[in-house]
Amino acid sequence: MNTRNAYALRARTATGTRPAAAAVAAGTPLARPLPAVGGGAAAPAGASSALGSHALTDRAANARLAYCEESVKGRFDAIVPALQAIAGLPRDADFPERAQALAQARLGYALPESVLASAWIAGPDLRALFAHCTFGALRAAIAQFTQDLLAQRETARDASNFFLDCGFHAVDISPCADGRLKGLLRYILRLPLSSFTWHKAYAGALFDIETDVRHWMAAELRRYREGVPSTADANTRYLKVAVYHISGSAPGQEGCAAHGSNEHRAIDAALERLNQFRQAIENSFCCGAGTDLLLIGVDTDTDAIRIHTPDAEGALNAYRYVDNAQVFRDTQGLSADQARLAVHEAIRAAAATAGWGAGTGEPHEGMRRLIANLLINNLSQIDYVQALYDGCYPDVGHAERYISVGDGFEEVQLRNISYYSHLHTVEEGAAHLDVGIKIFKGLNLKRGLPIPVAVHYRYDSQVPGARERTIEKVRRVAAAIGARYPDLSGQGLLICQLSVQDRPAGSPLELVDGGTL
Ligand code: ZN
Repeated sequence: MNTRNAYALRARTATGTRPAAAAVAAGTPLARPLPAVGGGAAAPAGASSALGSHALTDRAANARLAYCEESVKGRFDAIVPALQAIAGLPRDADFPERAQALAQARLGYALPESVLASAWIAGPDLRALFAHCTFGALRAAIAQFTQDLLAQRETARDASNFFLDCGFHAVDISPCADGRLKGLLRYILRLPLSSFTWHKAYAGALFDIETDVRHWMAAELRRYREGVPSTADANTRYLKVAVYHISGSAPGQEGCAAHGSNEHRAIDAALERLNQFRQAIENSFCCGAGTDLLLIGVDTDTDAIRIHTPDAEGALNAYRYVDNAQVFRDTQGLSADQARLAVHEAIRAAAATAGWGAGTGEPHEGMRRLIANLLINNLSQIDYVQALYDGCYPDVGHAERYISVGDGFEEVQLRNISYYSHLHTVEEGAAHLDVGIKIFKGLNLKRGLPIPVAVHYRYDSQVPGARERTIEKVRRVAAAIGARYPDLSGQGLLICQLSVQDRPAGSPLELVDGGTL
């Protein structure tokens, strides 16, 4: 991160306190505009255009997000230098005390006494300390994001109401599980996590259709039984969104690993799943028309999105989309109103695509409003990457800090922080886990550092016995991971943290068996 710019960005926007001026669709005034996450304040008068050049950029939100990124990643980055300093301390009787003082000063938390007490024999177990510190930084990140999430309750409600205004009673989003998309909601789309009905990442965005049909049924049942969020007779729809990714600077190497970094394969596979989902609803319940589909692509170098615009019949096409990087370039220097109009023009132009991208006309009005707002929110993120990283992240490839196995920590929304492997049993997710271990051989083992694996599952406290069963599952999966990589775990090069958490986002983290295995 360009730290100087991050500090400058914060300093310049620190005085802005006006509530979020949300992204409002031009030409179609909204009853409740879509609130952008973290957009607590508008740009203060006199803020320099150098740090947020676009008229629609929410500079105060950018400043807050820069602070968040810097503090979370900073905790991980501080670990190795602190442990190097601890390794250099004389191993006399005062070692534990001096090591603790150093850890408190540089990391802000204590190290395990048992590891330090035996250090005089063969030196401190730096691998165990590294894992301890990595999990400490992870827990601090969870606490920070959870606090943030609780503060966003109202914004999340506004966003859900906005979805409903656009005609969607449920929004189910499935991005690829790639670590570079981990900041999708908070950073790239600027939407609160809890405004989505369902959010689950899958390798290659290849979401599980059976699971999603169950989600659909749960949403529809709630409408029939409780009339929430809209009654069963209301003409609203279920929106399913898939998110794939590409790398503009290294398309053949740093794209989606699940699709061999082949952009066309990534798009076709996501489109196929989306269409199969709608077909499944149509075949089982004869109401496929009540389902809308949307496909979004992210360039993980720049965080610019492209939105594949459905046609008048809701059909998607690989070749019909709005490229927001282009919109950003085209609207630089325009006024906010002109830029909003240009966004709507871009959606209209996409709908009129000829040739391979041709469709049957513009999507319905609610879908157009939603797309316009997603594009406008993303302009702030393009500007963010522009200001802090000169328009392209330095880590275009993998730079994750830990492997996340199980349900993942959905609260932690930050790019390239974890490699996520969604699995119920190690047998089922072995291939995906092997890819993660391979990535971390390059990232950690090469430097002599162990691979931290956070095994985490969520339970539903409404279901009797669910917590106990989930704890058993966590133990079982962690043991199976150890058994799959016996050489690594035997040498202390693979260290697991075991935890469970109640289902509602922001529930407290509960460590199992003291935390690590
Ligand atoms: Zn991917």
